[in-house]
Amino acid sequence: MKDETLVTLAGRHPEKHAGVVSPPVYHASTILFPTLDAFENQKDLEFTYGLHGTPGTKAFEEAMNALEGAAATVIVPSGLAAVTVALLAVLKAGDHLLMVDSTYEPTRVFCDKILKRFGVETTYYDPLAGAGISLLIRDNTRAIFLESPGSRTFEMQDVPAIVAAARARRDIATIMDNTWATPLYFKPLAHGVDLSIQAISKYISGHSDLLLGTVSSNARTAERLKAARRDLGMSVGPDDVYLAMRGLRTVATRLKQHGESSLVLARWLRERPEVERVCHPALPGDPGHAIWTRDFKGTAGVFACVLKACSREQLKAFLEPMTLFKMGWSWGGFESLITHGDPNEQRTATRWEASGPTLRLQVGLEHPDDLIADLEQAFSRLNAAKRP
Ligand SMILES: *Cc1c(COP(=O)(O)O)cnc(C)c1O
Repeated sequence: MKDETLVTLAGRHPEKHAGVVSPPVYHASTILFPTLDAFENQKDLEFTYGLHGTPGTKAFEEAMNALEGAAATVIVPSGLAAVTVALLAVLKAGDHLLMVDSTYEPTRVFCDKILKRFGVETTYYDPLAGAGISLLIRDNTRAIFLESPGSRTFEMQDVPAIVAAARARRDIATIMDNTWATPLYFKPLAHGVDLSIQAISKYISGHSDLLLGTVSSNARTAERLKAARRDLGMSVGPDDVYLAMRGLRTVATRLKQHGESSLVLARWLRERPEVERVCHPALPGDPGHAIWTRDFKGTAGVFACVLKACSREQLKAFLEPMTLFKMGWSWGGFESLITHGDPNEQRTATRWEASGPTLRLQVGLEHPDDLIADLEQAFSRLNAAKRP
């Protein structure tokens, strides 16, 4: 069965719910035990306490297991919580972590503050390291964290080469933040990664109205992952899970449109004289294009655009009055967003070369012609602000 079909079916059990198409929402802390036997043998029961799941959350886990090809999935309150639970599942004091230098910024903050405080040392590595990662592996390295393409900068990592280097040692777990591609376009577990992270807040929920994350695991890491979620007390609101499941049903169709429109815009931006370069791995000529073509099945709609040098006032003229591209965090919703930042503020192993601001564009579901018109007006304002 193709993934486009799978997302419409996974986790549904109408026969258990009076024929109703979507699994109902269970609001629960207490779940009653019918007998003393049941009370005393809770290990054998599917549902024991709201914190550990209900038929509603179980349905979403089941759907994500199917899509990720996973032995287990845990649902946590945010994408960032998915990152922290995955890391805490496999690391302990005295361990060493290899973290990709282009990772999502709050992931870095967690490593530099909390993991450090608990005695885990982090080394940041070049996203282009590939098989060269072996040179950084130490005796006490216990995890390698990947994110491809990189947050903000969109470098493609050679996931199979890094997994092979990790697999040369049995005691290293690989973790990948796969939020950009979603399991529709890249399946980390099928490529030998142990833990696959998804910020459900992005494409899968798709409507900029909820926060959730998932971590999906292969069989060898499943027990450690489930224990970490349980012991950390991570629980999620049932209504958010319901909305995430609703988003999942249409994600394949939405993502296809996000990707197609983003390529229209990326091609258009690349021809603009105000643009230094466009960073979009699905665009032929991009440095990551060969790896993207080899490993990924499709493209998401988020990419970067580096402008030529301009002042803050000029950038303000460009960004502030936009009608469709609005400034705001997150992405993956139906509406377009634009942000800017200097990736070097979040890098230590490598340097990001750019003469002007690095913009991140999240291409929404608006018609690309309207998005181009919005950008065209922004460039006119930028040029007007540049004139003496
Ligand atoms: C947004 C994002 C997260 C965090 O997701 P939240 O639900 O906002 O916490 C993690 N990783 C990546 C790559 C993201 O883009």
